[in-house]
Amino acid sequence: MDLNISESIRNSGVVGCGGAGFPAHVKAASSVEYVIANGAECEPLLHKDLELMIHQPEAVVKGMQQLISSTGAKKALIGVKRKYEERLSELRRIAERADIELKWLGDFYPTGDEYVLVYESTNRLIPPHGIPLDVGVVVNNVETLRNLSRASEGFPVTTKYVTVAGAVRNPSTFEVPIGISLAEVIAAAGGPSVTGCAVFVGGLMMGKLETDLSLPVTKTCAGLVVLPADHRLVQRSGLQVEAKHRIGKSACDQCSYCTEFCPRYLLGYDVQPHKVMRSLSFTATGEAIWNQWADLCCSCGLCTLYACPEELYPKEACDKAKADLKEAGVQWKGEVQTSPHSMYDGRHVPLRQLVRKLGIAGYDVAAPFLKLKFSPRKVRLPLQQHIGAKAVPTVKPGQAVKAGELIGEIPAGKLGARVHASMDGVVTAINGEIVIEQL
Ligand code: SF4
Ligand code: SF4
Repeated sequence: MDLNISESIRNSGVVGCGGAGFPAHVKAASSVEYVIANGAECEPLLHKDLELMIHQPEAVVKGMQQLISSTGAKKALIGVKRKYEERLSELRRIAERADIELKWLGDFYPTGDEYVLVYESTNRLIPPHGIPLDVGVVVNNVETLRNLSRASEGFPVTTKYVTVAGAVRNPSTFEVPIGISLAEVIAAAGGPSVTGCAVFVGGLMMGKLETDLSLPVTKTCAGLVVLPADHRLVQRSGLQVEAKHRIGKSACDQCSYCTEFCPRYLLGYDVQPHKVMRSLSFTATGEAIWNQWADLCCSCGLCTLYACPEELYPKEACDKAKADLKEAGVQWKGEVQTSPHSMYDGRHVPLRQLVRKLGIAGYDVAAPFLKLKFSPRKVRLPLQQHIGAKAVPTVKPGQAVKAGELIGEIPAGKLGARVHASMDGVVTAINGEIVIEQL
């Protein structure tokens, strides 16, 4: 195990780019048998990982080599969709030279879920509530690996790959300074192609509907999907969560399609959203018996946005159940030994079918990488863009900073990630985030 690698990753503020933002130096300091690069990218319309693998294959492989050295792994795989075999020929050539195998995956949702990816790649099942490390595996998103490669050259994380898709004039992928506003990135894609739109940050399935476009791009933002404000997905997402539960309480007929299509249930975990929905029906609010059938749910959204024939909200019911269980300090209890459902292979949801069901087939186009120079007037850098403790500012208002300079440090003895300036300028505010403006 090479601890210098983990140290350089820590110094550069690398966190998981796949969504959760787990500090990458912690994973790099572990000892495992497998390292797996997650290039499965299954959020509809988002292509930033694909574009990154096409345009920076050397960096992805170099990051992988760093991780192999630091963890002592014996096997290394890059999980990618088979449909991109031709477009990823250069990555394959470079990877195979480094003894790294490309693991071809089917085009279904959610192939990028760590539990699914680990099973598809190694045939190992992560234990309930476990992490890949429990089965001797470390998983990192391909962009995280690119950042690991840059960390080995002394560069901190100051930019982010993002796809801008949906109702915009030129769907594209960009490398943008972290902290730039969502509005500026959408403008770079030609701006909305409709009047009156809404934006999903991080994707339609697992992202968040946002109305404040002055918010910044963070280290974990995979992309923006713009949709007309009257699109069914916007209307459904925008509903108050209490209304979602109320509708579920009155309309769920217990058909159990939500459970039968649930990817975690099909992997053998005891996730049963229809039973969580049942608890809504038998209590005034559902809160009295929100139950553990939700506890292993990964919030992939498939039950709400694809499976339920009545367009109810089982995913939201599971989210509420998990939050309630956590607050009540209820520990998960259940079978630790699991095995996949006999229909696991036959019941995958093809991405093409999901796109059709979501009503976004007209937006399902390429989002090619466009090399643009972004010079924002200001950037907003949240002190918490990761799992763990908030970074502690190392600068003061009025102080001049250079791009790449350390501005937020990990609190002593805590899990966290450093934050660096993403442009030259002056610190104008510190309040949960550090604002830097041009001189
Ligand atoms: S699929 Fe919909 S109607 Fe059927 S059990 Fe699940 S929530 Fe209820
Ligand atoms: S969101 Fe629904 S489909 Fe996805 S893991 Fe949770 S219960 Fe299963």
